[in-house]
Amino acid sequence: MLGAIEAGGTKFVCAVGDERGNISERIEIPTTVPSETMAKVFAFFKRYDLEAMGVGSFGPIDVNQDSSTYGYITFTPKIAWRNFPLVQALKGVFPVPIGFNTDVNAAALAEATYGAAKGLDSCLYITVGTGVGAGAVVQGKLLQGWSHPEMGHILVKRHPQDEYPGRCPYHSDCLEGLAAGPAIEGRWNKKGIDLVDHPKVWDLEGYYLAQALMQYILILSPKRIILGGGVMNQKQIFSTIYQYLQDFLNDYVFLPELTEYIVSPGLGNDAGITGSLLLAHHAC
Ligand code: ADP
Ligand code: ZN
Repeated sequence: MLGAIEAGGTKFVCAVGDERGNISERIEIPTTVPSETMAKVFAFFKRYDLEAMGVGSFGPIDVNQDSSTYGYITFTPKIAWRNFPLVQALKGVFPVPIGFNTDVNAAALAEATYGAAKGLDSCLYITVGTGVGAGAVVQGKLLQGWSHPEMGHILVKRHPQDEYPGRCPYHSDCLEGLAAGPAIEGRWNKKGIDLVDHPKVWDLEGYYLAQALMQYILILSPKRIILGGGVMNQKQIFSTIYQYLQDFLNDYVFLPELTEYIVSPGLGNDAGITGSLLLAHHAC
């Protein structure tokens, strides 16, 4: 039996299952403070005989195994979780191998194994939700350098008519600051879900996301790009992205048909938790 945690800023999804992504039981626990949330996480997993665990976590996190703070959530704006030793806390109760990576890297792994990029040895998984984050599989492995990539915080060229200052706490008008769900809400004073009939909103969203995708494509040349997260429920953003991307790239690189190249997650909302099961399996 494998244990999996998709640790998010709003909720922790905990599941037990196997490496084929079959989930036999799952629960959701609100992300409050570590003592409270972790007590419920321990209580859930204590009922099982676990071989290994996998954690796909919100971040930034320390994934450098040579670091003294490996396994920590590091600089999150969620103060109570800052410098929280997540892997160590789990190890204290469950002394099994624990795979640890970002939530988006876990999702990328799952999509490359069982989802929209199945059979491909590279893909990029991007979530556009409360924040913007991306994970990548490159030559069959999760992309990791000194730490994990932070592709949501790249700089983009501002739309000439966009005067919204941006709301990334670190960079103001980086991609996340201009294009995540809270930025849409801050700019238009309404939640994204209530702006469906305002094409300008989704045109601007596509404008920023297409710039980001252009840069990811030029740097990584992924074999498929998967766009998930709450904001991407607005499917009209896809066609806007295709148009802007074609404009920006101006035929400089050869790409497959964009409708098949830039797609929704094959695993839907289960990409993160399935990826966490895979992280557990890889840790064995
Ligand atoms: P999280 O990033 O916290 O895991 P989500 O991916 O659901 O969660 O993203 C939440 C963000 O997405 C919120 O800012 C919310 O307003 C926005 N969002 C959720 N559903 C929709 C929708 N159908 N249309 C537009 N925006 C949405
Ligand atoms: Zn930023």
